[in-house]
Amino acid sequence: MKMEYANRINKVPPYLFAEIDREIEEKKAEGMDIINLSVGDPDLPTPDNIIEALNKAARNPANHRYPSYKGMMEFREAVAHWYDKRFNVSLNPKNEIITLIGSKEGIAHTPLAFLNRGDVALVPDPSYPVYKIGTLLAGGKPVSMPLLEENRFMPNLDEIDAETRRKAKLMFLNYPNAPTAATADMDFFREVVDFASDNELIVCHDNPYSEMTFDKYKAMSFLEVKGAKDVGVEFNSLSKTFNMTGWRIGMAVGSSEIISGLGKVKENVDSGAFQAVQAAGVEALRGPMDSVRKNMKIIEKRRDYMVESLNNAGWDINKPRATFYLWFPIPAGYNSSIEFCSQLLNKTGVVLTPGVGFGKHGEGYVRCALTQTIDRLKEAVERIKNADLR
Ligand SMILES: *Cc1c(COP(=O)(O)O)cnc(C)c1O
Repeated sequence: MKMEYANRINKVPPYLFAEIDREIEEKKAEGMDIINLSVGDPDLPTPDNIIEALNKAARNPANHRYPSYKGMMEFREAVAHWYDKRFNVSLNPKNEIITLIGSKEGIAHTPLAFLNRGDVALVPDPSYPVYKIGTLLAGGKPVSMPLLEENRFMPNLDEIDAETRRKAKLMFLNYPNAPTAATADMDFFREVVDFASDNELIVCHDNPYSEMTFDKYKAMSFLEVKGAKDVGVEFNSLSKTFNMTGWRIGMAVGSSEIISGLGKVKENVDSGAFQAVQAAGVEALRGPMDSVRKNMKIIEKRRDYMVESLNNAGWDINKPRATFYLWFPIPAGYNSSIEFCSQLLNKTGVVLTPGVGFGKHGEGYVRCALTQTIDRLKEAVERIKNADLR
C-alpha cells in the first residue's frame, strides 16, 4: 500500500541539518574527535535535592496513577509561589497555571486551541522552530517577524501590515532569546501588550531562559507588565534552569481563558506529567537556588573564555547577558551558514548550528552552545585558531 502523508505533515519544512549530521557521522567514522557545540541541552547534572525528591516520590504508589491533566495542585502552588517570589507576579494556581510535559509540549498544543484554518500566528525569525511548526500542524498560517541585529533582535511591530493584524490570533515571543541571546526590557513588553489588545491577539511568551542570566542581569516575566495577563500566557520550564531537559516538566501561566483552552487540548491528547516528576519540580521551585547560581557561574566562565579568546583571534562576538548561546556572524567569503559550518566541521571537528536552521533571517549567523567543559572549549578554540577559517 502506498502511504500518503497528510498535507499538514508535508508542510513541515525539511530538516536542514541532515547534511551536517551525515558529515558528523562520516568524520566520527574516520576517527575524528568531534566537539559538538550545536546542542542546546545543558551538560551539567540535575541538582541532587531534586533527584532525591524524585526517588522518594517514585516509591509512593499514589504517584503511579494517572495524574490530573492540569497538573498536581502542589506543583501549581509551587509555580505560583515561585512566580510571586521571583517576579512579583501573582497567579491563581486553580486556573492560571497548568503543568506541561516540557514547555515545548504546551507551545505545540496552543495553536490547536486558538487557530482556525488560515488564521495567522506571528512568529519571530530566527526562532525556536516549534512556534512555526505548531502553527502549521494546527492549520494556521505563520507570518514571520524578522529579528534583525540593527533592531537588537526585536521585532518591529510597526511594520506588521493591517491585513496581517486583522488575521493574527497569536504572537510568539521569546526573551531572553534563543538563538540570538538578545534580552527585552519593560518598554518592549509594554508595547507588545498594547499591540495585542489593540489587535485582539494572544501573546505567547516563551521564557525558559529566565534564570540563565549573567553580570547581575535579571530577566523579567512578560506578566510583570500591567495588562499582560489579559492578553497572554508565559511558558516556562525547569529544563534549562535546573538542568532537567530529559525530565519533561514545564508550565504555562497567565490568562485563565488561554490556560483553559490549552487544557482542553491536553485533556484530550495527553494525560499529564508523571506525578513523581512534578513532586521533584516542587522541590526545584521551592528548594535552595544555590545550585542554579553555581551552574550559571560555570557557564559565565565558559562564555567569557570563548568570547574573549575568539575575539582576540579576530572574530566579532558579542558577550550575551543571558542564555547559554553565542550568536555571531560567519566570516566573509562563505556563501551560507551551512557552508561555513560544514567547512568548520571538516577542518576542526567543531560543530556549530547554522543560523538558517532557525529561519531565513538567521542566515549569515551561527549559534554556539556553551554546553561543553572549559577544557573542551579550549581545544575547540585552539583548533579554530589554527584552521585558517577567516
Ligand atoms: C529549550 C527550549 C524550550 C523548551 O524546553 P522544554 O524542555 O520543552 O521545556 C522552549 N523554548 C526555547 C526557546 C528553548 O530553547
